Amino acid sequence: MSEKRSQFPLPLSSVTGEKTRKAAAPAPVATPQTATQNARQNQAHQPGSHRGSVAPATPGTTKPAQPQQTVVRSDLAATEAPRRAMAARAARQGVKDPQVLAALEIVPRHMFVEPGMLAQAYVDISLPIGHNQTISQPYIVARMIELLKGSGQPLRRVLEIGTGCGYQAAVLSCVAQEVYSIERIKPLHELAKANLRPLRIANLRLQYGDGMLGLPQVAPFDGIILAAAGLEVPRALLEQMAIGARLVAPVGAQVQHLQRITRTGKAEWTSETLEACHFVPLRPGIA
Ligand code: SAH
Repeated sequence: MSEKRSQFPLPLSSVTGEKTRKAAAPAPVATPQTATQNARQNQAHQPGSHRGSVAPATPGTTKPAQPQQTVVRSDLAATEAPRRAMAARAARQGVKDPQVLAALEIVPRHMFVEPGMLAQAYVDISLPIGHNQTISQPYIVARMIELLKGSGQPLRRVLEIGTGCGYQAAVLSCVAQEVYSIERIKPLHELAKANLRPLRIANLRLQYGDGMLGLPQVAPFDGIILAAAGLEVPRALLEQMAIGARLVAPVGAQVQHLQRITRTGKAEWTSETLEACHFVPLRPGIA
């Protein structure tokens, strides 16, 4: 694992919208079902192989503006405005950490959505990625990473459970020195590899396996983030936290809340229950 920070083709630019911040809005709830509905409702483009319209996101709404330009997936300049708007909207929703907002602005989310959904890539919703799974809503990605960072030491080694299409892993790679991400569904692990390859992120490692077991060969971690909800946080993950480390996870079944756990000693953890959320389920084993 290289210690080098990720090098996206774009420079980190300053984050807009700081002055217009308001109190945090409640996070919209998203499920695979609602993700599909979201996609259908917002569908503004017919599927095409690697082409689609990317509409600049309209701050404060979940409806995309009229598609204005046709871009290829690798066309980063054409998505600069919607990416900036997405970060500005997260700031208005209460995300404060400038590094997290900058990461949200820099990672091209359209490179992680299905080709037929490019028009929704910068709308603040989860979207289906196949296999009954979703790409998370940008706001919740930013919120969870902010919770993981806290105001403490910079993040060194971070573990993500549930790579999915790889979007959150790419965002994490902008704020942590080393990122490991585990996915249990083989075709999604392969999809994430393909999505991430053109970004050439040197500090990110993808692993196919059961994330409930963690990655003991790499532990301890300064931060662990779960992108899928269990009824409780697996014991193995608690054991793989460094002392002082944080873990952020959605916990629950029908009703879920974000939980943040801090390891305060060798056999001591504290836990905070935060806002309501809705994630796909955490499942054991591999598929
Ligand atoms: N991180 C993604 C969200 C992925 S959705 C993003 O960037 O938007 C959650 C993912 O967790 C799904 O792909 C699902 O297959 C995976 N998952 C569920 N249980 C898991 C487990 N035990 N180990 C690894 N991945 C798991």
